[in-house]
Amino acid sequence: MANLPILRFEEKIVETVEKNPVVVIIGETGSGKSTQLSQMLYKRGYTNSGVIAVTQPRRVAAVSVARRVAQELGVQLGEEVGFAIRFEDRTSEKTRIKYLTDGVLLRESLSNPELDQYSVIILDEAHERSLNTDILLGLMKRLIKLRASNLKVLITSATLDGEKVSRFFSSCPILTVPGKLFPVEILYSSERPKNYIESSLKTAIDIHVREPEGDVLIFMTGQDDIEKLVSKLEEKILGLAKGSCMDAIILPLHGSLPPEMQVRVFHPALPDCRRFIVATNIAETSLTVDGVVYVVDSGYVKQRQYNPSTGMYSLDVVPISKVQANQRAGRAGRTCPGKCYRLYPSMVYHDDFLDATVPEIQRSSLAGSVLYLKSLDLPDIDILKFNFLDPPSSESLEDALKQLYLIDAIDDNGSITSVGRTMAELPLEPSLSRTLLEANECGCLSQALTVAAMLSAETTLIAGRSKSTEKKRKHPPSDLPDGSGWGDHIQLLQIYEHWDQTDYSVDWCKDNNLQVRGMMFVKDVRKQLSQIMQKVAKGSLDVRTSERWKESRQAYRKLRNALSVGYASQLAERMIRHNGYRTLGFKSQLVQVHPSSVLRTDEEGMLPNYVVYHELIATSRPFMRNVCAVEMSWVMPILKKLEMININKLSGGSSQSEERSEGENSILLKKDVNTGGPPEDRD
Ligand code: ADP
Repeated sequence: MANLPILRFEEKIVETVEKNPVVVIIGETGSGKSTQLSQMLYKRGYTNSGVIAVTQPRRVAAVSVARRVAQELGVQLGEEVGFAIRFEDRTSEKTRIKYLTDGVLLRESLSNPELDQYSVIILDEAHERSLNTDILLGLMKRLIKLRASNLKVLITSATLDGEKVSRFFSSCPILTVPGKLFPVEILYSSERPKNYIESSLKTAIDIHVREPEGDVLIFMTGQDDIEKLVSKLEEKILGLAKGSCMDAIILPLHGSLPPEMQVRVFHPALPDCRRFIVATNIAETSLTVDGVVYVVDSGYVKQRQYNPSTGMYSLDVVPISKVQANQRAGRAGRTCPGKCYRLYPSMVYHDDFLDATVPEIQRSSLAGSVLYLKSLDLPDIDILKFNFLDPPSSESLEDALKQLYLIDAIDDNGSITSVGRTMAELPLEPSLSRTLLEANECGCLSQALTVAAMLSAETTLIAGRSKSTEKKRKHPPSDLPDGSGWGDHIQLLQIYEHWDQTDYSVDWCKDNNLQVRGMMFVKDVRKQLSQIMQKVAKGSLDVRTSERWKESRQAYRKLRNALSVGYASQLAERMIRHNGYRTLGFKSQLVQVHPSSVLRTDEEGMLPNYVVYHELIATSRPFMRNVCAVEMSWVMPILKKLEMININKLSGGSSQSEERSEGENSILLKKDVNTGGPPEDRD
């Protein structure tokens, strides 16, 4: 810690912060921005008038950095230093430095628009350009005007175009912390490999056999690739003749690892033992692993991309940007000169890679964000001119407005409704929030809370979530009551209810290939959602939220109905001739039921005529994931509403494209049109 580059600039940083409400700090990854800035200001008494908030786009980073800072200050995590991520709050009255995801800070601003509990807000990792950080940047502009005398905002980044952000904040000062990077030799492959896992394996083994000591960091695209490469590496290294090279330890690193596995990368290596860290892009800038001398860069990243014209998400493996490639290489030069093996030719780097990664705001569904901004409804904020560093496309804004209209969150003039306001208070995507409110109305809130919690934690439920285990969910625990034939949501409900009946048995989870940790998380999320519902639904809460399991066809039917209301833009109709479905949303397209679904695609007659789906994903072809049967009589009124949509009216009288006028970065949203909201599972 003592020799972190940022510490040499402490005086300058503190002085600049003292004199300016907003400061941009650019510093190489690992220079100490995330761990030290908060401590510097803490030492100078900035927490006498409020808490220091430090936002992170990723949950893992919020937890890991908070843990580190607590350790450095010698305090218990959750006391002076704490963290808050969605569904997990480890802070207390004593907390003075709070690490939190950008999504959680956005949510806090709903109940406290001036965020006056904070004396300092540090937007960390701004270069990641997460959707939520981009929205926060816009909000900070307003807060600075309102609280100029008692709020400091710091924006930190490893690579961000500092000038652009500085201009955004009326030319605020930019401080650059030069890193002390050692030279990194870049070695290019002569061609792109056919299989980057095999090629990474070969390169890693070559390094192990030929190169002197130093850890190896290998960038893969996701958990599946990481698991494959880890097991291949283990096998190969075991096969090397004993004594021919030093010992090795192989550590995976990705966002879904249990925390105790994540922190293993921070433990110092044993002498004469090389560490192989096989990581996602989380190790690019979010987490700094010390001791790395060799980097193997596949040149790819897995990116979630939303297509507003089809409503479809795709999780594509795409080439990284030049900025990412340079970040990856930089990881090799932190402690001594290093080497970066790029598994692609230099021409690919120069000609094919984009200069910078496309910001998330330009590749996400904006329904949640639009609803969020609409619900802020601040008298002094000019929502008509909400400023984005880079504006989203008018197509995705229109898509968001249509979605919100279909689920009654905004009326046909684009104004937020009372249903929309309540929805915005729930920490869930709009469709799921709407489902809960509907379920509350029709008396199946208990079941809907379970499904919402199961869906929120789905990725952590199945032990070893690989393609083959995902299929296993198709075969539900054998002793489930009949009813899962209605679809995946009902099956998720039944799994939980059954577990609840066993009094949360650990053995039952193990017998059914479910992760105990994941199921406990669902239980906790369900409890929290239930408490939030108590608050937001005020007097009108369905009292049966804690009702215990009772198999009921009636409740399943009500739940399916509530889902059709919440997911009104995600309905599909059976097309027998195509052995699939036609989506009934804004743009009709042919889709299939995902093979992981409980709805048996292999048994023709079993498929329902109408379904609601949780998500449309494009892999080899368009698939609906998490599908459930609905009834025609529920679908018809929605189709009518769909026909009536007048986008001009929804967007406040003129089309979005005409509304862009205030300089290149501003987008005009009518007062009663709004934008924004925390998507997916970042927070
Ligand atoms: P930056 O934000 O500039 O990327 P950080 O403040 O995250 O830098 O990291 C500074 C140093 O602290 C690095 O050497 C990093 O390895 C170390 N560090 C960060 N988090 C942890 C942790 N949870 N455990 C141990 N070391 C950590």
